This record gives sequence, structure tokens and C-alpha cells, in this order.
Amino acid sequence: MENIDLLYIVSTVLLIIGLRKLSSPATARKGNILAAYGMALAIVVTILSPIEGDHGNYLLIIAAIVLGSVIGLIFSKKVEMTAMPELVSLFNGFGGACAVCISIIEVYKFNASTSIGIAATTYLALFVGGIAFTGSLVAYGKLTGKVKDWRGAFASYFNLIWLIVCVGLIVYQIIFPAQNEWLPLVVLAISLVYGLTFVLPIGGADMPVVISLLNAFTGIAAALAGMVYDNMVMLLGGILVGSSGTILTVLMCEAMNRSLFSVIIGGFGSTATSAVADEEGVVKEASLVDTAIMMRYAQNVMVIPGYGMAVAQAQKICKDLDKSLSERGVNVHYAIHPVAGRMPGHMNVLLAEADVPYNKLIDLDDANEMFKDSDVSLVVGANDVVNPAAMDDPSSPIYGMPVLEILHSKNVIVLKRSMNKGYSGIENPLFFHDKTKMLFGDAKSSLELLNTEIKGMD
Ligand code: NDP
Repeated sequence: MENIDLLYIVSTVLLIIGLRKLSSPATARKGNILAAYGMALAIVVTILSPIEGDHGNYLLIIAAIVLGSVIGLIFSKKVEMTAMPELVSLFNGFGGACAVCISIIEVYKFNASTSIGIAATTYLALFVGGIAFTGSLVAYGKLTGKVKDWRGAFASYFNLIWLIVCVGLIVYQIIFPAQNEWLPLVVLAISLVYGLTFVLPIGGADMPVVISLLNAFTGIAAALAGMVYDNMVMLLGGILVGSSGTILTVLMCEAMNRSLFSVIIGGFGSTATSAVADEEGVVKEASLVDTAIMMRYAQNVMVIPGYGMAVAQAQKICKDLDKSLSERGVNVHYAIHPVAGRMPGHMNVLLAEADVPYNKLIDLDDANEMFKDSDVSLVVGANDVVNPAAMDDPSSPIYGMPVLEILHSKNVIVLKRSMNKGYSGIENPLFFHDKTKMLFGDAKSSLELLNTEIKGMD
């Protein structure tokens, strides 16, 4: 075995261990660093590998690495924690763009001796990479709120047609392998348009599924490009990203009660008019003192964190409140919805950052079992993930999505700043329910005030 292969194996092992460690908040930071070392090793080894023919590219390679690293560093340093999902989406798009660039260069090198396998693989990398590129840019726009949902008539039929035409063209290329100047450009154009028409119609609440699917696409495109180059580490890295992204997509589909096919042809969960869209009712405001008393004398309190907790950066004060209550004999747990926040695992990361013990985090199914014993459910900046319309309004765009069934608890207190809607843009009947009281204000300030009140009680 050559040294290069050995170093590639070391790099792959680092990537695999890194990925494994990412599965727990306690080891995630270490996992990220290990995977970064693995990636750095792979890059260095690849650059130093002997290549037949042209050897004069080192200056260009170093310039590209320096430029990419500086841009990546500036973006990552400047980004707010709440904007992390957007950044991840943007970087994912760049991964797709890389696969596109590699494939375009390679397809124009095809000649009579190019094998069917290489031709098919390269075209697939081009197609999947193109979708991941424009799809991720639209996802970035949607997450930043700059791009709105768009639903043209027959959107999903168009997507099906793009898919069929593209697969047809690739099969044509395989059957008639002669060099076609126009074919790569047509496949590229279709994939870029498909990326747009696939993500634009997706309704707000369903974005997590699409984001993880785009992630999987980028991994698959990288794996295909690795096959084209016969580069083991690129192939394995792509397989790791592609397979973990695919597993996450399947889990997200289950969490949102959607089918994978409906995701691939796009348009699922797109904005529809709901019977509760213009709901009006009586909203009851909670007083700070009453809420503090209710929580202090509760036996079981369930905290339901959502995106607003990330915006308010309220995780540490939430932990302090938990401590004050626990010291007074109250059992505090956290109900975690798989798509709460703006990225998978968002709430777990926030709460781990605040040192909340992992065994206090309860997943959706178990939490739904526990609500009946909960005296107070304290919603901290969550909205869509506690919307009962998902259970009982068939006209709602989020109908069928499993939600935290907090109305089974005895009292519900919602911390948010206004009656604004959640990410999916739909009204939430929970806020008008008899059991619910609203404590308006920034979640961090409200929790601080609640904690001060509770600390003043015996
Ligand atoms: P939502 O986006 O539904 O609601 C968040 C709520 O937080 C808002 O209603 C807002 O109300 C409130 N809020 C914002 N800032 C503050 C603050 N400083 N203090 C108090 N409240 C605040 O969040 P959820 O977590 O319930 O749901 C996540 C949504 O995002 C789902 O629809 C999900 O599908 C989607 N999504 C999830 C992704 C993921 O991977 N997890 C990725 C992409 C989308 P107000 O303005 O009145 O304060």
C-alpha cells in the first residue's frame, strides 16, 4: 500500500470518528475538530500527490485555499448564533457548486475511450450538484426571510418533468457516448432550475426536511465526483455526508409526517389557507407574580424551548430558573421537538451550552406522554412546534406534523414578545385557548424577572 493511501485512510478514520462524536452534544466540539483535522490532512495529501502531466498549479491552489479560508473565517467569526443555519445552508450550496465545476471540467474531457460508468457518474454529479447549489441558495434566502414561498400552478408536475428530462438526457449520453457540446450545458441549466422550483414552493414548517435533503445531495454529488477522480477520501467523505444527510432526511420526514417522494418532487407543505389563518379570540395575559407562584408551587414543570429562546439567548437564565425551582423541590424537564429552532438539534445545542443535564431533555413522544402530569408548561419562544392546528385542522399547512401536545398539561404559559406568527406564518390557536396565558416580553428578561420572584419565595 502506498503512503498516500495510508494517509487517506487516516484522514477517513478521523472523519468517521469526528462524525460519530457529533452525535452527542458532550463530544460534538471534539468531533468537529477531529473532522477538521481529517479534512486538512486529506487536502494536503491530495495536493502533494504526484499527478501525471501538469505540475504547475501550486500557486493557484494555494491562492484558492487562502481566499476560501479567509472568507470562511470572516463569515464564521461574524455570524450570530441565530444565523448559523443560514450560513450552513450557504456553505452547503458552495459544496454543490464545487461538484458542478468539477463535473463540467471533466465532461468536456470525455472521448471515445470514456467508460459508460464514468460518463453516467459525472453527469449525475453535475445534476445533483446543480440542484444542491441553487436549492441551498433559495433555502438561505428563505431562512434569512429575504425569499418568500412561491407556489406556481403545477409546480410539482414541473419538477417531475425536469427530473424525467434530465434522467432521459443522461441515459441518451450513455447510449450515444459521442461528445456533445450542448448536453452538459442543458443538464446544468435544468439542474439549476430544478433547484429553484424544488425549494421555492416549500412551506415554512417543512424547510428542515428540505435542508437536510440538500445536505444529502451535496454529499452525494461529492461522492460521485470522488468516483470520477478515483479519489478514495473524496468518495468516502461524500458517502459519509450523503448517507448521514439521507438518514437525517428520513428521520425528519418521519418527524414531520411527510413522504420522501413528496419532498423530492417539491411543493409539499406549501402555504395554504387555513381555517385558523385569521383566528380571533380572547388572549389572556399572565402576571409575573402569578406565574412565579404557579411555578414555585408546581410539582412538575415542562419547559418548551423554541426559536425565540435562541433569539433571546435565554438558555443560561432558563438553566438558572430550573436551578431555583429544583432547589425548591420542583421537577423541571425540557420537551424537545425535532424541528424546534432553525436547524436540527438547535435546542439540544443551546441547552448543552447552558450545561443543562442531557437526561432532562425529553424527546417528542416521551414528552407527549408526560404532559398529563405537568402542572405548568412554560413555552419559551416556541410557536409552530406547539401549534394544535397540526392535529385538528385538516386545512392547515402543518396538518399531520407531530407537535408537542402541551394542552394536556394543567396550565400553559407562553413567553413571547407579541402575537406574531411563527416561521410557518400561520396563526396558533393555542394562544387563544382557555388553559393558556401569555407573558409578553423578551424571553430572557421575562425569565430573569421570574427567577428573581421565585428566589424571593421559600
Ligand atoms: P417559530 O419560528 O415557530 O416561533 C418562534 C417564536 O419565538 C415566534 O413566534 C416569536 O414570537 C418568538 N420569539 C422570537 N424572538 C423572541 C424573543 N426574543 N423572546 C421571546 N420570544 C421570541 O419557532 P419554533 O421553534 O416553534 O418552530 C421552528 C419552525 O422553524 C418550524 O416551523 C420549523 O419547521 C422551522 N424550521 C426549522 C428548522 C430546523 O431544522 N429546526 C429549519 C428551518 C425551519 P414574537 O415575535 O411574538 O416574540
